[in-house]
Amino acid sequence: MVVPYKHEPFTDFKDPAHREAFEKALQKVRSELGKEYPLVINGERIYTEDKLVSVNPADKEQVIGKVSKATKKHIDQAFAAANEAFKTWRRMSPEARANVLFKAAAITRRRKHEISAWLVYDAGKPWDQADADTAEGIDFLEYYGRQMLEIAKGEKVNSRPIEQNTLFYQPMGPGVTIPPWNFAFAIVCGTTVAPIVAGNPVLMKPSENTPVVAYKVVEILEEAGLPKGVLNFVPGDPAEIGDYLVDHKDTHFINFTGSRATGVRIYERAAKVQEGQTHLKRVIAEMGGKDTIIVDKDADLELAADAIVQSAFGFSGQKCSACSRVVVHEDVYDEVIEKTVQRTKTLTVGNPAEEDVYMGAVINQKQFDKIKSYIEIGKTEGTLVYGGQTDDSKGYFVYPTIFKDVDPKARIMQEEIFGPVVAFTKARDFDEMLEIANNTEYGLTGAVISNNREHLERARYEFHVGNLYFNRGCTAAIVGYQPFGGFKMSGTDSKAGGPDHLKLFMEAKTVSETY
Ligand code: NAD
Repeated sequence: MVVPYKHEPFTDFKDPAHREAFEKALQKVRSELGKEYPLVINGERIYTEDKLVSVNPADKEQVIGKVSKATKKHIDQAFAAANEAFKTWRRMSPEARANVLFKAAAITRRRKHEISAWLVYDAGKPWDQADADTAEGIDFLEYYGRQMLEIAKGEKVNSRPIEQNTLFYQPMGPGVTIPPWNFAFAIVCGTTVAPIVAGNPVLMKPSENTPVVAYKVVEILEEAGLPKGVLNFVPGDPAEIGDYLVDHKDTHFINFTGSRATGVRIYERAAKVQEGQTHLKRVIAEMGGKDTIIVDKDADLELAADAIVQSAFGFSGQKCSACSRVVVHEDVYDEVIEKTVQRTKTLTVGNPAEEDVYMGAVINQKQFDKIKSYIEIGKTEGTLVYGGQTDDSKGYFVYPTIFKDVDPKARIMQEEIFGPVVAFTKARDFDEMLEIANNTEYGLTGAVISNNREHLERARYEFHVGNLYFNRGCTAAIVGYQPFGGFKMSGTDSKAGGPDHLKLFMEAKTVSETY
C-alpha cells in the first residue's frame, strides 16, 4: 500500500540543530573533494584519461571532482547496453519499477544534507536553495513512482457487445536525458527517472558544470536496485558527443532541459530520420524564460516587493522561472521600486560553502561575463538604481542589480540573462501591463500581484505563460502541486511533475478482440 503523495518539507535553517547538521554535512563533503569519477555503462565503471573538472563557483581554485568523459565509442556501448536492458526492464512490473524510485527517495532522504552539501560545492547553491533542490529530487521520485502506478491501471475505452477494446501504455525504447546544471540534483533526477519508471533505459549526459552531483543520482538509483544497463552515465563535452547522442538511430526520445539555443538545435536535428532508424524521435525540450511580475495599482506592495526580491535574486536569478522584468502601474511605480531596493540592500553575498548566505557566485566565467555585459547594456537602456558590481577575483560574484525606466522592447527586457538582474517598467493600466508581459518570445512563468479579482481573472486566460501565480513570486513550483513547463520558445510544455508527464515516454496501444 503506497501512502498518498506529499511534497518533501524544507529544512528550517533558523533551527540551530539543523544548522549544525548541515555544517557537519559540508565538512564531510569537503573531505571528499577532488576525487575521480567514472562513466557507468551497463553497470561497469569506466575511467578515462580525459576528464571534466568541476570547481566551486565561489572559489574557482577548489576542485570538486574530476569526471570521466565519454566518447562516441562509449555512446555506442551505452546504447548496446540500453537495448539489451530494455528487453527485461520493459517487462518488469510497474510496481517493481516504482519501488526502485520509492527506495531511491528513502535513500536520498537519509542522505539529504549530504546531497545538498554537494550542491553547495558543485553548483554554488546557498543552503536553502540546495535543500530545496534535494527536496524536489525526492518529490520527483515519490511522484513519478505513484504516477506510474496510476497509468498501469490503463484507460477506459468503450466496447460493443461484439468486441472488447482495451487501451494501455507501453514504453518506447532507450532514450537520452540531457539536463542543465541549475537544478543539478532535482532536474537530473526527475528527467532521468521519468522515462525510466515508464520502462525505458536511459543514457544520461549531465551538464559539464555539475557532473559530480549527477553521479550521486546514479549511485542512489543503483543502491535502490536499478538493474544494470537501465541507466548509463555518459558525461562529456557536448561539442563532442551532444549531436551524436541526439542523432543516434537508437535514440527514441530526447528529454532535454536547458537553453533555447540548445533546445532548438536538438529539436531540429531529432526530426531527421537516420539510416537504420525505424521510428520517429520524440523531443521534450524545456527551455529558457524571461519571466514577468505584474504589480497592479490595487495591490499589497509589501508582498509585491518580497515576491520580486525572492524571484529575481534567489539563487542569483539562475532559474528558468526567475523574475527578470517587473511591470508596475504608474501610480505605485516609485513605491514598489523603493521597497524592492530596501529589501535588496539586506541580501548577503558570499561563499555558501563557508557561510549561510542569501546569494553565492554565478556558475562559471562564461555566465559571469555574459551577465556583466548585460549590466553594461542595462546602463544604456535604463537607470541603474541599485547594484551593478561584479567581482571574479576568487569566485564568479555578481551582486543583485536593479534597473528602472527600461523600455519593454529593450534587450534587458527581452533576452534571458540568467543572473541577478531585474528591470522595471511602468504601465498606465492593466491592458498595457498584460500587453508588456506577453511581448517576449518566452512564455514560462509569470505572477500578478493584485487585489482586483477582475484583473486576476483576465490574467488567468490572457497572461500567456505555462505557470502563472497570483499574489506570490513566480519561482518555486512544487512537484505534483504546480506541474511545470512553458509556452512559446520556453519549450514543449511537458509539465514536469504533472499527471500527464510520464505518457510522453510511452506509446498508447489499442487492442480490440471480436467476440
Ligand atoms: P545549456 O543549453 O547550455 O545546456 C543544457 C544541457 O545541454 C547540458 O547538459 C549541455 O551539456 C547540453 N548540451 C549543450 N550543447 C549540446 C548539444 N549540441 N547537443 C546536446 N546537448 C548539448 O543550458 P544550461 O546553461 O545548462 O542551463 C541553463 C538554461 O536552462 C537556461 O536557459 C534556463 O532557463 C534553462 N532551464 C529551463 C528549465 C525549464 O524547465 N524550462 C529548467 C532549468 C533550466
